[in-house]
Amino acid sequence: NLYNMLQELRGNIRVFCRIRPLINLESISSIEHIGNDGSIMVFDPLKSQTTRKIFQFSKIFGPTTTQDEVYKETQSLIRSVMDGYNVCIFAYGQTGSGKTHTMCGPSGGLSSQDLGISYMALNDLFNISTSREDVKYDIHVQMVEIYNEQVRDLLSEGTSITKLDIRTSSSNGLLNLPDAKICPVQSPSDVINLMLLGETNRASSPTAMNHRSSRSHSILIVHVNGKDMSGNATQSSLHLVDLAGSERVDRSEATGDRLKEAQHINKSLSCLGDVITALAQKNSHIPYRNSKLTQLLQSSLGGNAKTLMFAHISPEADSYLETLSTLKFAQRAS
Ligand code: ADP
Ligand code: MG
Repeated sequence: NLYNMLQELRGNIRVFCRIRPLINLESISSIEHIGNDGSIMVFDPLKSQTTRKIFQFSKIFGPTTTQDEVYKETQSLIRSVMDGYNVCIFAYGQTGSGKTHTMCGPSGGLSSQDLGISYMALNDLFNISTSREDVKYDIHVQMVEIYNEQVRDLLSEGTSITKLDIRTSSSNGLLNLPDAKICPVQSPSDVINLMLLGETNRASSPTAMNHRSSRSHSILIVHVNGKDMSGNATQSSLHLVDLAGSERVDRSEATGDRLKEAQHINKSLSCLGDVITALAQKNSHIPYRNSKLTQLLQSSLGGNAKTLMFAHISPEADSYLETLSTLKFAQRAS
């Protein structure tokens, strides 16, 4: 269809913006208009003299959009994974803007309702795998977090491997994580169990703090290996990323560990922005090496890979400046 043709012309990066509903009754919305064409108009409702700013994305999901509606627009990418493409789907935005809701589900829980993209994607991978009788697929998952530029395995139990190395694979020359536990999965419930284990390990980390989950990047890596009757093999991966909160930490308030943490997050998110921008501009040099996050995502960003960014925003007046900063970040990619 026309939409897909346009996407082809624009390259392999697309940006969806999702606005979560207002949660507090007293909040005032900073979003004035959401267009069917993917445009959005924002303004600062706390200023009397205020300018309106317009941004344009592939799609905008308003506050009433359901998880199913969001997934429907994502589904074609999941099919691509089974066809041998590497795919990266990541959620960007300030803490509380709905990243985990989109990727995992309400309040990050894995209850049976309103499950997020990670679960629906895996469910679809299994369905496609079953329906293609002429190809045999093996699916494996890894789950890691990046905190202060260190990669930590979330699926290995009882060990304290805190610094995993990202290395070049001998089989395809791409960067990967050979030392992170890799688990075979046969069903959606296998995946749910692993995601729950990952969440538990994430919370029980030695340096765990209440705010930890919003201060680290969490990455679910799905490896798909297909083999058909005549022995032709495909190898692809899907990276599902719930990024650390993009909010700026006030330099005057943050000290010590908090400041270090903020600096690491700033750096890795700006490296991600640089990579995405370089890809969108079709530059010859893509600066993957500058952060652990971009190294880890290299195989699923650029080349033939397909990338989807969800730019998450909160509609509240108080979030206006962060909203603006998220929309600007996302605009660089589109
Ligand atoms: P983040 O991961 O970006 O910090 P969350 O996903 O935890 O944000 O969302 C913050 C709160 O808002 C949670 O209570 C979540 O359930 C709620 N929320 C986020 N997005 C939506 C949505 N689209 N519909 C309903 N509730 C949402
Ligand atoms: Mg979250």
